[in-house]
Amino acid sequence: MLTTVVGSYPSFSRLPLSIMEKISNYMGSYDAYKSALEIAVQDQVKAGVNLISDGQVRGNMLEVFAKEIPGMITTDGKPIIIGKIQPAPYSIGASDIKVALKTAKKLSSDFKNDLQILYRNKFQDNFKGIKAIITGPTTLALSSRIEGFYNKDEKDKAIIDIAGALKKEAEYLQNAGAAVIQIDEPFLSTGIADLKTANKAIGIIVSDLLQPTSIHVCGPISEVLDDLLRFKVSIIDCEFADQNKNLEALENINLKGKKIGLGCIDTKTNTVETKEQVASIIEKGMELVGKENLIADPDCGMRLRSREAAYSKLKVMVETVKWLS
Ligand SMILES: [Zn+2]
Repeated sequence: MLTTVVGSYPSFSRLPLSIMEKISNYMGSYDAYKSALEIAVQDQVKAGVNLISDGQVRGNMLEVFAKEIPGMITTDGKPIIIGKIQPAPYSIGASDIKVALKTAKKLSSDFKNDLQILYRNKFQDNFKGIKAIITGPTTLALSSRIEGFYNKDEKDKAIIDIAGALKKEAEYLQNAGAAVIQIDEPFLSTGIADLKTANKAIGIIVSDLLQPTSIHVCGPISEVLDDLLRFKVSIIDCEFADQNKNLEALENINLKGKKIGLGCIDTKTNTVETKEQVASIIEKGMELVGKENLIADPDCGMRLRSREAAYSKLKVMVETVKWLS
């Protein structure tokens, strides 16, 4: 069984220390988050995770995209739509994917250039690669205030235009070496999102991608899982540790060829679970959908956890998966 992360890792910005860093700070090119990115990658590789992320260390999931997409701005980290939404003329996250891949390769030669690896081989137990993460169009639009171009009741139109912008970004990320493209849509379980529009928007993003795709949805899924299974993605990733009712939603399910990302680590607390606790969730998942259809990961992002807790939680997850195989 593959292991992965949802994406975010404890982050910190670091002041320039070396002479070279101080010079690049003076020139305006110092990157205060590069060391956080490298630490996130190193910890995930060391913990033995198969499909790692760049740690999403640069800020909250809305702001990172909203401040770069033409037609959107942010104020105090909150997105605002001010004009016609269009693709950015450059990639938002590709350079971080390249740094993450380079950092991982230094630690393990198992990390390879993912464009050379066949799609089906990415689900083999020993696969190692980088997953790129995009904040979904429905979540971005529903979190935004509309102040221009779109009428207040035209969020659907904005969602489709954001999807057009993110389609371009997903292609940049794939070309940068991402093995899997994940779209985060926490809003899809809240009851306020239109799942038809969400599905159409995700379809736009993934339509020309060659790599497997995943959608991460937070919270309870029993009301939405049937709809999610119609989305054109390879993996549906949800929380099963903190939301153990979600396991019931997997009973007698027709996966339609998809895999389930089985959140088996509680990401709301720093308390590190025991192998037995993690195993009980994974075993239940195996019983319901079969081992071959599961990918183990934490419930959600780990930005708010301590680095020690985040690392130990990943380690116990990887050890439990090995223990069960
Ligand atoms: Zn989540």
